[in-house]
Amino acid sequence: MHQSENSNDWKWQVANRIATREQLEKQIVLTEEERSAFDGDIPLSFAVTPHYASLLNNEALRRTVIPTAHEHKHGTGELADPLGEEDHRATPHLIHTYPDKVLFLATPFCSTYCRYCTRSRLVGKSPANFQALEESFQYIETHAEIRDVLLSGGDPLTMTDPVLDEILSRLRNIPHVRMVRIGSKVPIVLPMRITDELCSILRKHRVWLSLHFIHAAELSTQTQAACRKLSDHGIGMVSQTVLLKGINDDTQTLTELFYGLLEINVKPYYLLQCDPVRGSAHFRTTVEKGIELIRSLHGNISGLAVPQYVIDAPGGGGKVPILGHDQIRREGGDVVFRNYEGKEYRYPDPA
Ligand SMILES: *Cc1c(COP(=O)(O)O)cnc(C)c1O
Ligand code: SF4
Repeated sequence: MHQSENSNDWKWQVANRIATREQLEKQIVLTEEERSAFDGDIPLSFAVTPHYASLLNNEALRRTVIPTAHEHKHGTGELADPLGEEDHRATPHLIHTYPDKVLFLATPFCSTYCRYCTRSRLVGKSPANFQALEESFQYIETHAEIRDVLLSGGDPLTMTDPVLDEILSRLRNIPHVRMVRIGSKVPIVLPMRITDELCSILRKHRVWLSLHFIHAAELSTQTQAACRKLSDHGIGMVSQTVLLKGINDDTQTLTELFYGLLEINVKPYYLLQCDPVRGSAHFRTTVEKGIELIRSLHGNISGLAVPQYVIDAPGGGGKVPILGHDQIRREGGDVVFRNYEGKEYRYPDPA
C-alpha cells in the first residue's frame, strides 16, 4: 500500500484501519484458506492498523490477526467468557475478582483485534460510552479495599488524551488507590500513538503499562522507539505474553522476544496459558508444553527475562503460577528440588 504522508499520525492509522477482506488484499496477498474465512459471518471482530499490517509478511503475526475457519469450531470446555468475568462484574465497567484490585473495562475498542482475545465476546462490539463510567468511579471510591486499578478493555490507549487524563485524574484522586496500570497493545499495533503529550499524561499520573507482546517480530523500529520514549519519560513497563501454538511456543522464539523486551526496558511479567475462549483450539498448547518451555528458560537466560508462567483459572479463580508437579518434594529433613538442568538438589529443612 502507498503510505500516506499522514501514516505517522495515530488518528490517520485508526481512521484507515483495515476492516474488510478487500482492504486487507490491497496490502497483502491472502492464501485461499484466508480468503475463504471471510465468506459469511466472522465470529470475532476484525481490524488491523496499516502499521501492524506492514508486519504481516511474518507468518506468526499473520495468524494472530487474520481470521481462519478454525474460529467457527467450538472445542471441549471452551466458553465465550472463560474467566467467568460476568459473574464478577461489579458495575457495567468493573470486574472485581481479586480482593484488592479491579479490572476497569474503559473501552471495548482496539485498533487491531487478536483472534485469541479472552474478551472477544466484548471487544469491538459496542461503542465506548465515557459518561457511563461514573458508577464505576463511585464503586472504587466507596470500596477502600481497592488498591490497584487495571484499566483495560479493549485498549485504553486508543482513547484521546483529554479522556485518558480525566479518567486517570479521577482514579488518582482516590486516596486508597495505590497503583494504576493500563493494559495495552498500542505501542505494538499503533506506536505513533505514543506522543510526548501522552507520555506526559502517563507520567503525571504515575501509570504503569502492562503491554501485550507475543513475538519478536513485533519489535519494529517504531515500536522500539515508542517504548524507549515511554521509558525516557519514566513509565514502568511489563509485558504479558500469551503462549500460542505454532506462533511462540518454542524456546528460541520466546528467548528472542524476552531479551528484545529487556532491551527496550520492558520486563517480561507473565507467560499466559491461552484461555479456553470459544474458537481458540488452534491457538492452545498443552500445559505440559508450557511447563517444559518455562523450565527451558529458567537458568539458561537472564532471570530478568523470564516471566512467570500462569494459568488464569477458568471460572474466575485468578492467575495461578504453575511450576510443574515434580518441582519439589520432602525426604525426611530435606526438601528435594530440581534445578534448570533437571539435576536434583537438597535443602536442609527439618520438619
Ligand atoms: C489479570 C487480572 C488482574 C491483574 O492481576 P495481576 O496478577 O495483579 O497482574 C486483575 N483483575 C483481573 C480480573 C484480572 O484478570
Ligand atoms: S489487544 Fe487485547 S483486548 Fe484488544 S483484541 Fe487483542 S487481546 Fe483483546
